[in-house]
Amino acid sequence: MKVVLLGPPGAGKGTQAAVMAKEFTVIHVSTGDMLREAVKQGTDAGKTAKEYMDRGELVPDSIVTKIVCERITRKDAANGFLLDGFPRNINQGIELENELKKINLPLDIVLYFKTKESTSIKRLTGRRVCNNCGSNFHIVTMKPKKEGICDACGGVLIQRDDDKVDTIKNRLKVYKEQTKALLKFYKDRKILREIAGDMEVNALFKEIRKLLKKEKLI
Ligand code: AMP
Repeated sequence: MKVVLLGPPGAGKGTQAAVMAKEFTVIHVSTGDMLREAVKQGTDAGKTAKEYMDRGELVPDSIVTKIVCERITRKDAANGFLLDGFPRNINQGIELENELKKINLPLDIVLYFKTKESTSIKRLTGRRVCNNCGSNFHIVTMKPKKEGICDACGGVLIQRDDDKVDTIKNRLKVYKEQTKALLKFYKDRKILREIAGDMEVNALFKEIRKLLKKEKLI
């Protein structure tokens, strides 16, 4: 399956993508995670990206598109991929379409996580992320077994710099401005499927499974 997960920050795309990747043996491609890794490694791309990420703005398309295209053309993507956080604007949508045309692998569907702004804010302000493996937790709804410690690898849980209230507001604003055109783009191609991002994790996964079955993707 070749699926894009689209929706505002805090819609649960990363959480669902992690479950889906495991369950359906496809790769989870999160541009946010890849950019944070580049920042950690101190690469040139990472240094540039950090300035934008700290402000809650989009990193230049040229940087992000290159990382994604490189990733989805690797061997282990042959069984399918879940794009989480990409594309985020119409230009990236067009670039992705062109890249997939080259390798003759069009997208199957775009899962649009329709989510209330209040839900996004609650999820993002309470989110804690493992500083080692990147697993996500929430201080109320997805507590780790041991406070402050990652269940998966024992790493320390931290709050992302861009999960502070002011940056969250800007991220949501940028999302609204940039994504409208992208929704139309995929609607026109008849591959947009809407799901309720406000649902609780397990219930939402059930809905996604149902939808993927209906689409004959699993
Ligand atoms: P995320 O983890 O998806 O919320 O992304 C965190 C930040 O990484 C965003 O606020 C952007 O600064 C940057 N980013 C992630 N994906 C993209 C993308 N497709 N295009 C531009 N910037 C991105």
